[in-house]
Order: sequence, then C-alpha cells, then structure tokens
Amino acid sequence: MKIRLDQVVKTFDTFRAVHGVSLEIESGELVALLGPSGSGKTTILRMVAGLEFADGGQIHFGDRNATDIPVRDRGVGFVFQHYALFPHMTVAENIAFGMRTARAARRSEAQIAERINDLLRLMRLEGLGQRFPGQISGGQKQRVALARALAVDPKVLLLDEPFGALDANVRRDLRRWLREVHEELGITTLFVTHDQEEALDLADRVVILNEGKIVQEGTPEEICRNPASAFIMHFLGDTNAIATTVTKGKAAFDGKLIEAADCVDGPADIFLRPNDLAWSPTDAAGIPATISRVLDRPGARRLVAVTDSGQTLELDAEPDLEVSRSSRGYLKVLRSRVFTRQA
Ligand code: ADP
Ligand code: MG
Repeated sequence: MKIRLDQVVKTFDTFRAVHGVSLEIESGELVALLGPSGSGKTTILRMVAGLEFADGGQIHFGDRNATDIPVRDRGVGFVFQHYALFPHMTVAENIAFGMRTARAARRSEAQIAERINDLLRLMRLEGLGQRFPGQISGGQKQRVALARALAVDPKVLLLDEPFGALDANVRRDLRRWLREVHEELGITTLFVTHDQEEALDLADRVVILNEGKIVQEGTPEEICRNPASAFIMHFLGDTNAIATTVTKGKAAFDGKLIEAADCVDGPADIFLRPNDLAWSPTDAAGIPATISRVLDRPGARRLVAVTDSGQTLELDAEPDLEVSRSSRGYLKVLRSRVFTRQA
C-alpha cells in the first residue's frame, strides 16, 4: 500500500509540531523517519495511523484519502518503544489478540494456531509461545510485539523507536533481523528513530526531520555522501567542525585553502569526519600537528591531534599504526565539506 502525505500540518494549542510535511512511501518500501527528539516523528506516525488528526494537508492510502478510513479499517500495524504486552497473557495469546478481535477476516481456532506457529518461527521465538512476557528478554518482547502487529496482515507497518529501550548489541541484531523480515514480507513500513546508524542500516530511504520539517531525504548512500546542511552534518554524528571564513570560494584552514565553491563569502564551518583525515609522520605537505591522545577501538585507532595553530581534530587510523601521545606528524585532508554559517 502506497502512502502519501501532502503538506501535512499539526498544531498543538499554539505550538506547530509539524510544518507542511510532504512525503511518499512506495508500496513495499521501508522508510526511516530520522530526527532529534521533538522533531515531530511520533506526531507524523500517529497521523498516518489515524490516532491524531492533521489540521492541514492530506494523507492518502493508495488512492484513498485516509481521513475517510476509520482507524481500525486502515490495516495498520504498530509497534512502539514501550509496547506493553498483556502481562497476564502468554506470548501465543498476545500474538493471537488482534486476530480474535479483528472485525475483518474471522479465523477459526485452527487457523489462528497455525498463524501463531508461523509467526513464532518468523520472529525466531520457537518454543516461547507458552511463556509470559515477564519470562522473556526485552528483545524477545519487541519481537512478540512485532508478531502481534503482523498477525492481522497489516498493509502498513508503523514502528516508533521499537528498539529504543534495548542494549546496543541487541538493537543491532534486531535491526538486521527486521530487515530480513521486511525483505520476506514486503510490507510498506515507516520506521521512526533518532538513531542515525539504525536508520542508515535499515532503511531503503531516510527522511531527516528537524523542528517539524523535512530537511533532507534520500537513500543512505545519498545522505552520507551529500549531507545538505551543517545541521545534518552534525546530526549524522562524529564530525570535526572548524570555524572559518570563506573568501572567493576558498575556506582557510591552518594556512591551507579548502575548496568551498558553493559558499558565499563570509563566516562558515569546515566539516571533517574522522576518516576524512589521515595521519602521516613524514609527509610535510600536510598540516603540522601533535598527537594528544590515542583511543583504541576494535579494528581502529582514533587519534586526537592538535595542529600547531591549536585546532583539535579527531581522526581514524589503522589499528597497527605506530603512534603515541606527543608524536609529531602531519594531517592530510582527504575530503571536506564547507557550509556557510547560518545567522
Ligand atoms: P519526536 O517523536 O520526534 O520526539 P513528537 O512528535 O513526539 O516528537 O513531538 C513533536 C513536538 O510536539 C514536541 O515539541 C512535543 O512536545 C510536541 N507535542 C507532541 N504531542 C503533543 C501533545 N499531545 N500536546 C502538546 N504538544 C505535543
Ligand atoms: Mg517520538
């Protein structure tokens, strides 16, 4: 089911939480809505679900205006961050809940039992059907919540930070697994998260929101290669930002000039991700610097370098690079981005 938002607006009292958001989600696509807390992600999801009414614009499900479709007939499945499972029901009963209450598609008990087994298998929850929610892990609970949402064959799946409360490793496993489930079922999915890595790992397309507006959308590759603004550069994380001035399309940085052809003259910031920089002990074409810290990471070393003019920068190096605190050498700028400073 294709979903289309057209200039959707939502105001709470006098506060405008969503400002004319237009967005299309193709049938079978997995789109991540990514933005900081308060950027309007949940509000948009709730409007798609029909739990909240837009006060401007329109939402279409396929060719139909969604306003005409009551919530329970929208064919929407949800999972929220704290989706409380019914604690007094077993895992199997939780999954079956929607199938028993749905008005459409009445099923026999045998059909329901078969469906539960299929879902337990798909969710890798075999053998846990008779447990109670208090007897399974957080990651398993969220898989039960997803099974419950999927049980009624939704046309659209809405996921609001479903892994937000889980440990980093469990989150990573679950998103790989969700991607596989999506590939198998092909349900149109809108996934909300404030976690950049999660959005980039999981989605066909990422839509970045800030203060109730879409600020960029594209494939993970497009977003990573061409962040549209300083906000997105910062938000995607892990970047050095250096205040500078652009003069005639060039930005000054420690005595070097960096290409900034798209910028108007005036205050700007140079952004360098840790892998946009390289360290050389000998190549004097680079910017002279001193290592102030070496941070060992699995598979890499993060260096903190201070240039002779006092600029602190972080960069990544090979794990076996011979370097230590106080080593002298040169920074090489491999890639950079310059954005005009917003007033
Ligand atoms: P996100 O999910 O991106 O964190 P939300 O959609 O929950 O953001 O909220 C967007 C903004 O709207 C926030 O500033 C929030 O405080 C406000 N907001 C959300 N729901 C309500 C509500 N029911 N009443 C008043 N303000 C709300
Ligand atoms: Mg939210």
